Amino acid sequence: MSQVYCRFYKELNDFVTPALRHTEINHDLDRKASVKDIIESFGVPHTEVALILVNEVSVDFTYIAQDGDVIRVYPSLVYIDAKQMQQLRPEPLPIPKYVIDANLGRLARYLRLLGFDCLYRNDYSDEMVAKISSEDERMVLTRDRSLLQRKIIVYGYFVRASTPRIQVHEVLKKFDLFHLIAPLSRCTRCNGKLRKISKEKIEHRLQPLTKRYYNNFLICAECGQIYWQGSHYERTIHLVDKFKVGGE
Ligand SMILES: [Zn+2]
Repeated sequence: MSQVYCRFYKELNDFVTPALRHTEINHDLDRKASVKDIIESFGVPHTEVALILVNEVSVDFTYIAQDGDVIRVYPSLVYIDAKQMQQLRPEPLPIPKYVIDANLGRLARYLRLLGFDCLYRNDYSDEMVAKISSEDERMVLTRDRSLLQRKIIVYGYFVRASTPRIQVHEVLKKFDLFHLIAPLSRCTRCNGKLRKISKEKIEHRLQPLTKRYYNNFLICAECGQIYWQGSHYERTIHLVDKFKVGGE
């Protein structure tokens, strides 16, 4: 039987069983295996990997492991002198856009509230999420590692936090989105863009009190939902401040 030696660096250890973190792991190979398969057998999705060195030479995911290989796996190039190395991560997406796994509905809603383009439906299958990501070049946000192991997904991120509000802060920080926050520019219900609309045009749809007290309105270009600068607006601004700082 052949054997290889694997080591995961930095935050890739979040995925690895505690006993195997930050250490050289002896791994038996009972069949021909690509380095992608070996890495993912430890629970690390390929979308999190930026560089693989085998015996100090950079390889891509298709490399077939050989007996005695020393495999080092990095989440980013910043930790080593990576000139001439094979970068496995694509260039970052020019405009951040996401497709969000079916069980992260509140994260999707909050990110839309901050103005980010997030496709989401609570009946998305893994296959649909992967297809949308691949065809539309959208970053998958998920807490399901097996979803990120799908080959067609190039852009994907495993959300570490389990609480929605902390997830928002994590995503803002990870992708450096703070300067792009634009509250009340996108419909939280359907992801459509909001535009201003005059009160006269929608007056017939307003409740009497809303009609009496508010004058500035926005409408979703997709689903027609109406938004106005009432308590919803104040709550949103308060939430945005919380997301920036982090915590519950
Ligand atoms: Zn809408």
